[in-house]
Amino acid sequence: MKFWSNITKTLTPYVPGEQLNESGIIKLNTNENPFPPSPKVIEKIKKCLGSELKKYPDPESTELRDAIASFYEIEKENIFVGNGSDEVLAHVFMAFFKDKKLYFPNITYSFYPVYCGLYEINYQTISLNKKFEIETEQYLGLDGNIIFPNPNAPTGIGVDLDVIEEILTNNPDNLVVVDEAYIDFGGRSAVELIGKYKNLLIVQTFSKSRSLAGMRIGFAIGDVKLIEGLTRVKDSFNSYPLDRLAQAAGKAAIEDKNHFEYTCDEIIKSREWTVSQLKIRGIEMLPSVANFIFIKLEDAENMYKKLKARKILVRYFKKPLIDSYLRISIGTKEEMENLVKNIDQIMEV
Ligand code: PMP
Repeated sequence: MKFWSNITKTLTPYVPGEQLNESGIIKLNTNENPFPPSPKVIEKIKKCLGSELKKYPDPESTELRDAIASFYEIEKENIFVGNGSDEVLAHVFMAFFKDKKLYFPNITYSFYPVYCGLYEINYQTISLNKKFEIETEQYLGLDGNIIFPNPNAPTGIGVDLDVIEEILTNNPDNLVVVDEAYIDFGGRSAVELIGKYKNLLIVQTFSKSRSLAGMRIGFAIGDVKLIEGLTRVKDSFNSYPLDRLAQAAGKAAIEDKNHFEYTCDEIIKSREWTVSQLKIRGIEMLPSVANFIFIKLEDAENMYKKLKARKILVRYFKKPLIDSYLRISIGTKEEMENLVKNIDQIMEV
């Protein structure tokens, strides 16, 4: 296409999971939360739907950042917000990763190489071990920045905070970004290390544990100077990334601690039930602390197709090393019972 710039011609865009609009689908393919957001969120959004929408939102999302800061007992100057954590990550890549090499695991969130393509960042992957775990030694004393999710995606495997500390102390001149999209389902957040390490940046989202994937709210937590860097990029891109509804909804969501804790607990229980049921059936899987599991099957693609025919959508990645696995998001107990019943029927045939 003659109007495409050279960089546009080279891009390999990220492909998100299918968003089918048919009714009656059990959607376990994009790690959304099966529970609706807090009723207080809906109330706040309704209040916002009046004449206020004619005005621009607060470009600094002050109240939302204040609410996130008070949840984590840090300062609002340590918080950056964006239109989903994908946008926050894009700004992170632009703000910090352009001038030296970037390292990330060979099996990880597949958006990372896409941002590298967009921003022309030189990257190198580091292989996970045979158990799909991060090998700490391979992340020590590197000559470049580092990013990895904790827990990792699509494996669901978490790392301990002492591993993160070891990586931080052994890379004093490199930025270490921990993508905590799934941290609230059983992992331990590195937020408590923020005051201690100026080379640590954490990225989180409201899409998973706060049931707001449709609202697009993500945030980063880090040293004031890192937040200032992100803000420079944001203000050179879009002054108002979060609209009024998103700011109000996000604030209400983070303030409703009871709803958050209850829904996370339910998802963890539902995950543990599913794991035990699949294990009884001899199905192997990786140990997950996320709101999804990564199960191994003889013919994963076939199972994906058969489940889809039965209106149950899961995620299959036709990629080396993981093409015999399915990633299944954790739904409600009822949805997971339905999944297990259907797997039984498919395996019997
Ligand atoms: N990080 C990881 C590891 C993810 O899996 C996702 C979800 N696809 C994101 C970030 C982005 O989430 P969102 O843009 O909805 O905040």
